[in-house]
Amino acid sequence: MNEYALNLDGYPAYIYDLPGLEAHVRGIRAALPNTELFYAAKANPDAEILRTLAPHVDGIEVSSGGELAHVRKTLPDIRIAFGGPGKTPEELRSASHLNVDRIHVESPRELSHLPSPASVLLRANLPLNTGGAALTMSGPFGMDEDALDECARRIARTPHIDLRGVHAHLASGLDAPAMLDLAAQVADWALSWLESQGVDDPELNVGGGMAVDYANPDVLFDWAHYGQKLPESPALRIEPGRAITAYHGWYVTDVLDVKTTRGETYVILRGGTHHLRTPVTKGHNQPFEVLTATGPESPATLVGQLCTPKDVFARDVPVPALAPGDVIAFTMAGAYAWNISHHDFLMHPKPSFHYLNG
Ligand SMILES: *Cc1c(COP(=O)(O)O)cnc(C)c1O
Repeated sequence: MNEYALNLDGYPAYIYDLPGLEAHVRGIRAALPNTELFYAAKANPDAEILRTLAPHVDGIEVSSGGELAHVRKTLPDIRIAFGGPGKTPEELRSASHLNVDRIHVESPRELSHLPSPASVLLRANLPLNTGGAALTMSGPFGMDEDALDECARRIARTPHIDLRGVHAHLASGLDAPAMLDLAAQVADWALSWLESQGVDDPELNVGGGMAVDYANPDVLFDWAHYGQKLPESPALRIEPGRAITAYHGWYVTDVLDVKTTRGETYVILRGGTHHLRTPVTKGHNQPFEVLTATGPESPATLVGQLCTPKDVFARDVPVPALAPGDVIAFTMAGAYAWNISHHDFLMHPKPSFHYLNG
């Protein structure tokens, strides 16, 4: 990767390592012998990434009509689960001709706009213990027990709408033991609720949210432990995003200026967090490698070209002496990176995109 990054025509650039990604998802797949693996497209819907993952996943989870149309066009035959709050009647209608396998219903209102026939999972917002989560997905997502009961009653009266199971994506940033604990709590509640609703062959989607540790890039989610200990449930499905694609994207750019102001050293890089918003949204230092300089290190703050003090990739991090033209590669930029960024702020040029192939 480093050699490739140093021979680019210009910066900034995103580089995606497709063979590395493929090996990674193969490993995840192998660790989950009894579980269906869907990829949450919103982590990174890049078409090359979707095509790389497709042979190794059971399906793709989409969260909007836009993602649905894009994934169906990119992967004509893949199974799709369609979730997300605030689905419009038009989006729900498109689920029928775009051949959606499961619709994750988020509210009783959505039931009135389902295409027919439709197979649904009801998204549950359960008051479970999500200890240690970086983000808990309560609030507007899913339904409490009363709304779930109401949906089940309405579905029972509606021909061609099939209640298949429960969907619960309750937290993100959990390690394998915490995720297992949460999955067991969901299964406990959902399987008995589905039985009480007379659902045969119940399905359970326990969501995504497997932890990615940006401060410790070598500490990976323990898929082997997770796969071995998942609850025994007839049809269990998960839909991670970040933990699948985060590790195989880089944002590479060069130094434009270095200055010391009131005792603080700032390294100003071409581009900015309008291309790689992850460190701002997560409040972390984005991990990086300096590709062109070595030597004694001293602290500096790595910033971009935006006219806002929030445009910080990493604060007070040790770097060797840097000068204009030096090249830095931010790692772990394969998920919630380019596609969540505010590209048009300040109208700087867009990065180029590169794909390492086998
Ligand atoms: C975002 C999201 C996911 C994926 O979450 P990750 O943290 O990327 O694993 C899965 N399911 C739903 C419903 C989501 O909103």
